[in-house]
Amino acid sequence: ATPTSIMVGTGKGAENGILIKDAESLEQAHRLQTIIMDKTGTLTQGKPMVTDYLTVRGTANRNEIRLLQLAAAVEHQSEHPLAAAIVNYGQAQGVDNLPEVQEFEAIVGSGVQGTVHGQRVQIGTERWMQSLGINTEHLQSRRQAWESAAKTTVWVAVDGKAEALLGIADALKPSSAEVVRHLQRLGLDVVMLTGDNPATAAAIAQDVGIRRYIASVRPDQKAAHVQQLQATGKRVAMVGDGINDAPALAQADVGISIGTGTDIAIAASDITLISGDLSGIVTAIRLSKATMANIR
Ligand code: ADP
Ligand code: MG
Repeated sequence: ATPTSIMVGTGKGAENGILIKDAESLEQAHRLQTIIMDKTGTLTQGKPMVTDYLTVRGTANRNEIRLLQLAAAVEHQSEHPLAAAIVNYGQAQGVDNLPEVQEFEAIVGSGVQGTVHGQRVQIGTERWMQSLGINTEHLQSRRQAWESAAKTTVWVAVDGKAEALLGIADALKPSSAEVVRHLQRLGLDVVMLTGDNPATAAAIAQDVGIRRYIASVRPDQKAAHVQQLQATGKRVAMVGDGINDAPALAQADVGISIGTGTDIAIAASDITLISGDLSGIVTAIRLSKATMANIR
């Protein structure tokens, strides 16, 4: 495209809350075939809230509040969005002080751990618990019900025993389903990529109208999934907000970040949707078409 048509396209983007940093992305967007969407903070609002909480061994000795205190103390050390949800829930349930945590560690894509009052506390996915040899056969019908309702579930284990289960909801953005439908109508294949478990991913995908999803993806594998789709000959866009999404945004033919997301994701992307409104994806494709039409 000519410098003038690129300037016009970039200017129209800015008017519509779409920051186009790379002229080539404006030339490429109308040729995209596959759009990969991150789940948390991209399709969803990224404001998770604990909605359910059950302990395995009942309520004796204020067991519920004690476990919540251990979980909140460890999560207080974490920057993960789920961590804030758990800390806030603890506070709302009356956890008033957070004991000191030693040996805190975040295990990317799995959870967090730390030692509190000499007890080993681990909070994270069922898959991670199983890999640690922790028995999670409790509360399974509850876990499945919560996940079918699109909630993320997280175990709290103490000294190698699963003690409590949390259900955490993160509502879809109001426009997500409509944007997905619009992209599909334009002939694009929309794929969801998430670190969350398969059942929760399936429920969100269904709510938002996405048929194809890839779940339990470790953060360091997101870029490889983009590459795999590119290897089938497709021109691929990645849409994401997290630090974890940055390599995938850079790998994609067009990387689209969420303006309300992390600086690292924004820096790695070609296009930023300033307010996080996903309808900007459709607008960017339209601008790309117009820009390329202008030169012919
Ligand atoms: P996403 O792709 O949804 O951003 P992540 O790759 O960050 O997910 O994490 C995958 C899963 O690991 C989460 O859904 C959660 O179950 C678990 N997890 C990660 N960090 C934490 C944490 N701080 N506390 C509890 N669970 C966590
Ligand atoms: Mg995200």
